[in-house]
Amino acid sequence: MNKYEILEKYYGYRSFREGQEALIDHILEGKDVLGIMPTGAGKSVCYQVPALLMPGITLVISPLISLMKDQVQALNQAGVHAAYINSSLSENQITKALAFAGQGRYKIIYVAPERLETERFLRFAAAVEISMVAVDEAHCISQWGQDFRPSYLHIVSFIEKLPRRPVLSAFTATATGEVKDDIVEVLGLREPMTLVTGFDRQNLFFSVEQVKNRSQYIQHYVADHEKESGIIYCATRKNVEKIYELLAKEGVAVTRYHAGLSGEERQKNQDDFIYDRKSVIVATNAFGMGIDKSNVRYVLHYNMPQCMENYYQEAGRAGRDGEPSDCILLYSAQDMMINRFLIENKESNPDFTEEELRTIRERDEKRLQIMQFYCNTKECLRAYILRYFGEKGEGACGKCGNCQKQYLEKDMTQEAKKVVDCLEEQGERYGMSVVVGTLLGGKNAKLKEYQVNQYPSYGTLSKWREQEIRDLIGSMIQEGYLRQTQDKYGLLQTTGKTQDLLDGLCSITVKMELKSSKTVEKENGIKGSTGRYADILNRRGIAFFEVLRELRREIAREQGLPPYLIFSDKTLVDMCVRLPMSREEMLEVNGVGAYKYEKYGERFLACIMEYTGGLREKFYF
Ligand code: ADP
Ligand code: ZN
Repeated sequence: MNKYEILEKYYGYRSFREGQEALIDHILEGKDVLGIMPTGAGKSVCYQVPALLMPGITLVISPLISLMKDQVQALNQAGVHAAYINSSLSENQITKALAFAGQGRYKIIYVAPERLETERFLRFAAAVEISMVAVDEAHCISQWGQDFRPSYLHIVSFIEKLPRRPVLSAFTATATGEVKDDIVEVLGLREPMTLVTGFDRQNLFFSVEQVKNRSQYIQHYVADHEKESGIIYCATRKNVEKIYELLAKEGVAVTRYHAGLSGEERQKNQDDFIYDRKSVIVATNAFGMGIDKSNVRYVLHYNMPQCMENYYQEAGRAGRDGEPSDCILLYSAQDMMINRFLIENKESNPDFTEEELRTIRERDEKRLQIMQFYCNTKECLRAYILRYFGEKGEGACGKCGNCQKQYLEKDMTQEAKKVVDCLEEQGERYGMSVVVGTLLGGKNAKLKEYQVNQYPSYGTLSKWREQEIRDLIGSMIQEGYLRQTQDKYGLLQTTGKTQDLLDGLCSITVKMELKSSKTVEKENGIKGSTGRYADILNRRGIAFFEVLRELRREIAREQGLPPYLIFSDKTLVDMCVRLPMSREEMLEVNGVGAYKYEKYGERFLACIMEYTGGLREKFYF
């Protein structure tokens, strides 16, 4: 078999996605690779397909137990023999798995990094042929990354102990330069082909909303997308509980996930979500790594995440099947405070020196500020994301939340000068909230304590709304007329360019949102989800989609598997569109491979025949 036949037979896909083929070819030539792809882009195919073509065994190193189980289940579903070895297995089970592996029963074995250097595993590894070691979530090896895991360092010493060095492939969704360099260096990749692929996820709708009542927004949104699977992320356990209770009271099939729950309950709740027993999960960012559920239709953020990497990874859990899905961030300026608190109280590696800790804090603060810029930008959100991840991202996408909003450009040069006056009067000693409060003529306790009413600039911008002044200052920072210190205070300061502004050599314009009837509708949560497949299916088509989903649920229950491992939403939609009536036609459907056809194909065919009476022409969806 060649790589195309493998893709067709085991995955039911007709063609490779961007980047997949190049990575696979390099691996097959025996060269190391580093694949940088966003969540949902299809990293697993990049190492699983060559694994099936190479003579020996492929070891996949992955940080999370749930991920391994899911991937191995998916492979077994597709007819590939695979196993995993981690702490969820008993010693007995491990012995058995290694014995089977020794007999060549598995082509792919997932291993937790802590297991690699156990004597037993080393003995096994020395006795068999290992063709490749694939490192998933490879950024975990970098001290500078978001999720450094010391156990990842075992990979390096493990490979050194092998009789023959296998091909190394590494995959991650984190693209910043220093993390990338670290992966290559620490893992010891040899002249790897590094491939960064399309961070753009065309099927995701991005939007940032500043609404007065976030809970209410969520309540409406969820009610409006009743049958769909969604994740709601909150920054704290307390918020998770609050939103969870709110939705539960409304009768939503909702569950929750955070570090305060017992391991047992977390597992149960996660399974309820994955197996479609509960459609919504409210969670902290502890939830999600290793969740491969492909039919998540929306990811809402009740709070702003700490950085773009986290945001894109969390939001990216929507629409892995390539179907249209929403990623909506509900922003409130208070989120900066919550996040600073979380950053300051973050657990860190006890081996770090003071100096290193300071550097990390500064990076975290900088990442947080960039995240806040994302929330405040009036430009195309997709372009912003792509630029951040090092892609071109020129022009506006025309279909994100910002591209669809209407703006008014306003000259605010005079107001910008007032901001500078204020900073100078206050000796550049304060951050955003105090400066804005002063200009607005605010009266809260903090402003009183600092006696800001003594400054001449107090209240000089009182006819503006708070958000407008924040937008103005945001623009001034982005254009370089001001800067914000990279520490927890985020002090506002003037720069070398500020004088140009005062001298009238340049002007500042700020985009202001015009409240169109559409955004007002959105605030009330009226958006309607039945439209999600409206481009593809008509109303009757959507009704049939529900019928197929029900059949999928039934099969999933019988098999004790998550429904999306039977067939993805995308596959079901494609069935609605094509209405296959024979084995050949069914195999044409996206996501139906030969093996899965044998298992489930006929039942779906029967369902289609029954529904349409075999008269496809009459049922054009
Ligand atoms: P990642 O690990 O990069 O987050 P996955 O490997 O889980 O992404 O893949 C995301 C989804 O895309 C999966 O449902 C996978 O089956 C699907 N996929 C991968 N490659 C292809 C392809 N060539 N054509 C169609 N779908 C694909
Ligand atoms: Zn856009």
